[in-house]
Amino acid sequence: MSKNPIALLHVIILPYPARGHSIPLLHFAKHLHSLGVTVTYVNVFNHLSKDVFDMVDINATEEEEEEEEEEKVDQDHSNRNRSKSRRRSIRVVQLGVPPVQTKPVRSLPYVREVDTLVEATEEMMEKLFAENQAAPPACLVSDMFLGWTQLVANKFNIPRWVLYASPCRNLATFLHMPELVIQGHLPHIDPSKDNFLVHDIPGVPPTRIIDLPSPIMDHTHYEYDFYLRNSAQMHEATGVLINTFYELEPHYIDVLRKTDHLRWILPVGPMLPPIYFMSSAAAAVSNGGATQNKNNDHPCLQWMEKQPPASVVFVSFGSVAAFSIPQLHDLAMGLQESGQRFLFVVRRPAAAAASSGETMTEEDKDQLRRRVLEPLLPPEFTAHTEGRGFVQQDWAPQLSVLCHPAIAGFLTHCGWNSTLESICRGVPMLAWPIQAEQHMNCRFLVDDVKAAIEVQQSSDRRVTKAEVARAVKSLMTEDAGRVVRENVEKLRDLALKAVAKGGSSDNKVEEWICRYCNK
Ligand code: UDP
Repeated sequence: MSKNPIALLHVIILPYPARGHSIPLLHFAKHLHSLGVTVTYVNVFNHLSKDVFDMVDINATEEEEEEEEEEKVDQDHSNRNRSKSRRRSIRVVQLGVPPVQTKPVRSLPYVREVDTLVEATEEMMEKLFAENQAAPPACLVSDMFLGWTQLVANKFNIPRWVLYASPCRNLATFLHMPELVIQGHLPHIDPSKDNFLVHDIPGVPPTRIIDLPSPIMDHTHYEYDFYLRNSAQMHEATGVLINTFYELEPHYIDVLRKTDHLRWILPVGPMLPPIYFMSSAAAAVSNGGATQNKNNDHPCLQWMEKQPPASVVFVSFGSVAAFSIPQLHDLAMGLQESGQRFLFVVRRPAAAAASSGETMTEEDKDQLRRRVLEPLLPPEFTAHTEGRGFVQQDWAPQLSVLCHPAIAGFLTHCGWNSTLESICRGVPMLAWPIQAEQHMNCRFLVDDVKAAIEVQQSSDRRVTKAEVARAVKSLMTEDAGRVVRENVEKLRDLALKAVAKGGSSDNKVEEWICRYCNK
């Protein structure tokens, strides 16, 4: 085995089985591996398919392939070769049997099922400690919603680091949740207090109760307890690695470090594929990995090719959220009224569940069968928007779309991955949060970093077609749009610096590795 101290550092990465959580961790795993760390990545419930690993190009970078090729030539040392090439790839292990989702997904799949994985995880860890192919695990990096992994880490006497997949502003709120219960703000039972402002979350501006993560609005649901438990368990972790970068939110990071909730708060993001950090020209010609190649002939990209530079608004709401048909119609009519070019990803509720890798329930399948027959879009919509609008059903290659020179803006649900992807491509946003922590992300984007224009919602969270048209026109043609574009371009430059050699995120990753290598 190598005497290289970095290769002797063996990190176990345990993501939550939802793509919005697991794919950033896959990028992080790849980054650690490129620095020489030995990484075991756990594919919980086998929810990531081989396509995803191919997309992230996880097994071999070009450089590694060359080195492995050289090693294969050395026939006399075949055993040594095998152990070297094993060390060179990230090892992926399966954990848990894929469960059938029995309830429609609200914001996170598998909330009950992941809580049953303690024993299986302990068995997996025992095996990893027993084998002699790699160094023994030195630490566990696990998702913010896998709080019970703290027990596993304690049992094996290794530190647990949390991967927090949202901005630091939200982390401050998440950590404060047990206090919100003590102060009587949670559970939130009285709808007349929806707009009540919570004032004392450290460093965070007064926050409306209904802008807290949607699952904790309903104390009768399993997710309420799930959030609170995970918040409490996070307080026991050694530290938090956050998918953000210091320059994006220095205030929140500084305040949280001072309040000393946790020993370590390390911003190490954005955790994205390298193409997001290239110049537009380089991104446009780059192969950018396997998916990028496959996507080049995707119909929506072929349509983008025919549009003028910086002219198209991308309209997409992530992998889980879906609208009612009346809301979908108002959105479509608003896009039509705006007179602007758009690429519109339309998804049915059941399709959203399927595309996010969740198993469809019978109820979902029924709904899907009915909705295929029901018109998703208003009559004549396609005819009225022909030439300037493209409708993509269910799923678009977002990475390639945001890297395309024709992109001008992004109407988004403020999912944190979509937000970081937009920032890293310098694409200004229209913020239309729907659920989970997206309302808090919206406040951050609109109030703090001013990288988005808010799409105004009524008290029942509806958006009119007139409001859609207003917001799109404002982004594309008015001063407000110019301002957010300038702001997001500055943030993009800061993000690129943060992940470059010697940048703030790059330094934090190296510091983190050194902590364990110097042991
Ligand atoms: N995504 C995509 N195509 C789509 C919708 C989403 O590639 O049509 C990807 C997107 O690039 C992002 C992820 O799915 O990486 C969505 O994550 P996010 O945190 O934005 O939202 P969530 O799906 O978790 O609500």
